[in-house]
Amino acid sequence: MGRMEELVALLNKYAKEYYENDDPTVSDAEYDALYDELVMLEQFGGLVLPDSPTRRVGGRPNEGFRQVKHKERLYSLDKTKTVEGVGEWMNKLGKGETVDLTLEYKYDGLTLNLTYEGGRLIRACTRGDGEVGEEVTEQVKTIKNVPLTIPFQGEIDVSGEGVMPLSSLEKYNMDAKVPLKNARNGVAGAIRNLDVAETARRGLSFYAYNVGYHKGIEFHYQHEVHRFLIEQGFNVGDYFKVVSDFDEVKRLLAEAEEKRPHLDFLIDGMVFKADSFALREMLGFTEKFPRWALAYKFKAEELTTVVRDVLWQVSRTGKLNPLAVLDPVDIGGATVSRATLSNISEIRRKGIRIGDRVFVRRSGDVIPEITGVAEEVEGAREVEKPAVCPVCGSPVVEKGVFLYCSNEENCAPKLISAIEHFCSKDALDIDGLSEKTIEQFYNELGLKYAYELFDLTKEQLLSLDGFKDKKAEKLVAGIQKAKSTTLARFLYAIGIPNVGKKAAYVLAETYETLDRIRAASVDDIASIEDFGLITASGIVDYFADSDNAAYIDALLEKGVTFLKEEKTEGVFSGKTVVITGTLSSYKRSAAQEEIRKRGGKVAESVSKMVDLVVVGEDAGSKLDKAKKLGIEVIDEAAFLELLKQ
Ligand code: NAD
Repeated sequence: MGRMEELVALLNKYAKEYYENDDPTVSDAEYDALYDELVMLEQFGGLVLPDSPTRRVGGRPNEGFRQVKHKERLYSLDKTKTVEGVGEWMNKLGKGETVDLTLEYKYDGLTLNLTYEGGRLIRACTRGDGEVGEEVTEQVKTIKNVPLTIPFQGEIDVSGEGVMPLSSLEKYNMDAKVPLKNARNGVAGAIRNLDVAETARRGLSFYAYNVGYHKGIEFHYQHEVHRFLIEQGFNVGDYFKVVSDFDEVKRLLAEAEEKRPHLDFLIDGMVFKADSFALREMLGFTEKFPRWALAYKFKAEELTTVVRDVLWQVSRTGKLNPLAVLDPVDIGGATVSRATLSNISEIRRKGIRIGDRVFVRRSGDVIPEITGVAEEVEGAREVEKPAVCPVCGSPVVEKGVFLYCSNEENCAPKLISAIEHFCSKDALDIDGLSEKTIEQFYNELGLKYAYELFDLTKEQLLSLDGFKDKKAEKLVAGIQKAKSTTLARFLYAIGIPNVGKKAAYVLAETYETLDRIRAASVDDIASIEDFGLITASGIVDYFADSDNAAYIDALLEKGVTFLKEEKTEGVFSGKTVVITGTLSSYKRSAAQEEIRKRGGKVAESVSKMVDLVVVGEDAGSKLDKAKKLGIEVIDEAAFLELLKQ
């Protein structure tokens, strides 16, 4: 068999599964790629086989339905995937002149043709093969926004798309025995279903966009049709534009592509139509589509690929989340090699096994999701529930449909939050390390301790979902840069019990080097103002612990160094200052920062060591104490004067 015969046979098989069984086994993008290859071979060789899908619209109508011949043929649409393709088509259409085009969403659902006579809906049909469709009147009557009566009393066919809103899909799938793979199959399977109650259950919607056969009314432009449909009470969606300028077209396409992930229904592109019916008449049709319309197809959101493995990730809360490892596929410009699965019962409901080929969907920035099985592959194996935590080996406990690690204290959650703390703003301040990213490092790169961050390479980051060149580079550089920090930040970052930002700062100021802090005794530390015995012994115990010592040494070995806090000289040099009460021009922490910047030390409580007390509104006992000790006291205005010096 030649390649052409092979493609025809394959495409016909896929088309039957898609149009007639509503159960595709490949994604639209994969179908389209084969279809494009066939079109190329046909154009190149000048031969079109009699059963080629390029000669046909849709699939054969299902025998279970009454077959209805359409009064006017229903067509498919010519397509392009590029903006340049749209430009070329526009030039051809206008022969150099600008032409008014209408621009609409390309709804991804099921074409429906509704026949009205004497103001009543008398029949609804699918497109079928374009000539003959299936009668689905009862099914369509369950769609709430299809008008059963309209003001117009003549004969008219209204065509549009039956769609399953994504919110309906989500609701339906929540308790469906077998979840629907996507909204397009959801609507096709619902309407081409002899059980009308099932159609009703799916919460479908109808978007009208065309008038076909009509008697008793004239139209000259598509925008007239659009207005007419609104007047008759049809839902036409909220997108309809008339354009003629290519730059405007480019802008609108980019805008629509951006809007796409936020819509509650699937669109797989945008449709251009010549607005003028006179022009349409001149251009006519090919065997398959009108020459006066063009679909611009967006990048695919869905592809099929093979599940290679299922890993169990332990999240911060100790929950074990299944993660599918996939053969990498490019979806919408990003390589997808992982997809989340909610829980084991979801895996069972969707019938996903390791080795099966599955549909993977990624829309906008949303995490890729496996929507269903495309093909059950022989030798595929069931996903097993883990008995022990993959991180720490502790037994797994089940809570509803979820699995949890029973070791709450020392498993993933604790390690992850320690790393998170290490990177936080007041610690080493590494930008771009969200909780989610750290979890990703932990789960996929096996990173457990903060010092391992410094060994991360760009290549490692690129192997993770969501990392592209720039982002990976930036993060690696940010991590390396964070190595030079201050002693205060470091002391805060390593997570010594009871040592917050302020205590870390005081420790660093008092001891000046890490070695001296590591060697300090409980008494030493307790003698610092505001450090009690409990905090002091917590600090000493922390440094005495051999694991902590090894952790600190590892950090130093990776090249963590301490910049000297800049000792600036200024108006407060050699002075210890206390602020009490509320200042109107500075938050207390900001005022303290100003004092430090000018060479001063800041204390919280008044003692003989204090040289100056700044008094704001509502100052209390500290002011009294200062007076008693004879310490210099100044008000806010005098303080502001000092800052100016
Ligand atoms: P199409 O769906 O790409 O385009 C034509 C259809 O677009 C019309 O019939 C109409 O229903 C719809 N449409 C949506 N919005 C519209 C609007 N505003 N104005 C006019 N029409 C609008 O073409 P097709 O011939 O129905 O189907 C071909 C496509 O179906 C392929 O490109 C492929 O993606 C998919 N397909 C997939 C498989 C598979 O196995 N996955 C098999 C066969 C076909």
